[in-house]
Amino acid sequence: MYVLISNVGSTSLKFKLYRMPQEEVLCEARVERIGSQDGIYRYKNDMNGQERSLPSVPLGSYVDGISMFLEDMCGAERGVLTSVNEVEAVGFKTVVSKGFNGTVLLTDEVMQGMRDYLFIAPVHNSAYISAIDQFRSILPDTPMIGVFETSFHSTVPLENRLYSLPYEWYEKYGLAKNGYHGASFAYVSQEARRDGDFPRIIGCHLGGSCSICAIKDGKSYDTSFGFSLQTGVPHANRCGDTDPYTVPFLLDQGMSLKEVMEGLEKRGGMLGISGVSNDLREIQEAAEAGNERAQLAINVFVTAIVRYIGAFYAELGGLDKLVFTGGIGENSATVRGMVCERLSHMGVELDREANMRTRGSGYISSPDSPVKVQVIAANEELGIARETYRHLKETGK
Ligand code: AMP
Repeated sequence: MYVLISNVGSTSLKFKLYRMPQEEVLCEARVERIGSQDGIYRYKNDMNGQERSLPSVPLGSYVDGISMFLEDMCGAERGVLTSVNEVEAVGFKTVVSKGFNGTVLLTDEVMQGMRDYLFIAPVHNSAYISAIDQFRSILPDTPMIGVFETSFHSTVPLENRLYSLPYEWYEKYGLAKNGYHGASFAYVSQEARRDGDFPRIIGCHLGGSCSICAIKDGKSYDTSFGFSLQTGVPHANRCGDTDPYTVPFLLDQGMSLKEVMEGLEKRGGMLGISGVSNDLREIQEAAEAGNERAQLAINVFVTAIVRYIGAFYAELGGLDKLVFTGGIGENSATVRGMVCERLSHMGVELDREANMRTRGSGYISSPDSPVKVQVIAANEELGIARETYRHLKETGK
């Protein structure tokens, strides 16, 4: 059975075509910097190794990335299928939908629930709605399955999820932490416990979106993400934690709600502080060249990560393993190094040489470090493919 997995990030798009249940990847693509004239597109046919790499291509919207991938997947030159109709299901890493959680068929009701929650996940839900609509028009008879990012956090105790707001807002509107990055942390939790018993893990998913998760006995115990994706550590463009009173203050200064929301969602985060880019690679380069605001953005980012690790260390009653994942977590020795150097008092002993050389996966703590530090390459797609396949088998859809 061919199952296509589509992972729509806030600034990126990833595809993997699996043969299930063999878990064999037939082809894959990665599209980065969506919304810019300087996008990156990479496709690989995993059967014969053929690749196509476009380092600078205009990517106006998600639709451009989807079209390029489908052309390659079914094309004569690099393709692995003769027609898109051979795809038996498309699985999505969906974010949040009012009234739905877990793994579900993307019916009109679920899509409506995603629209109802556009307000709390404007960037993600709108990207997913447009990507799913695009796939539905190309493959009208193929089941579209959503694996919701909130599911992994259903184990977070209420005392760790509840805000100190009037309780009836929780009862009436469900105002509490939802948590996101569930597919990533579910995978991290499995992988990190393969080589030992690590009851207290803190996972740092650092990419275009960033979150820290406390994992107790393999289950989510707390998360830096909240009701919306606007919380926690700074993201590429989104603000992360801020004082709720900044919003009425700015409205009172004469800004419109639309302008304020745009600032929180698109002009905040690493872009907002650095004024250079939303991409850490460019921020690091600028900082190395002496740009003070770029260095400040990195320092704010690292401090926010350290602050959450400290809070979760206390909540978990100690720490056995710290994990880095996501585009930044896997590739930025600078950020990992700065974070770990500040955690030595907690028993984190960094192996600097291992940190510098590690990209993707590997241990970066010294052999005797009381707290192990591991880099795990995110593989949200495999988790989604497994869930999609399980759902299809159980429901017969
Ligand atoms: P993701 O959303 O997980 O795909 O991560 C995207 C982010 O990873 C981008 O903002 C990049 O800044 C960051 N990234 C990717 N490669 C590197 C690298 N070699 N060094 C620093 N950051 C990187």
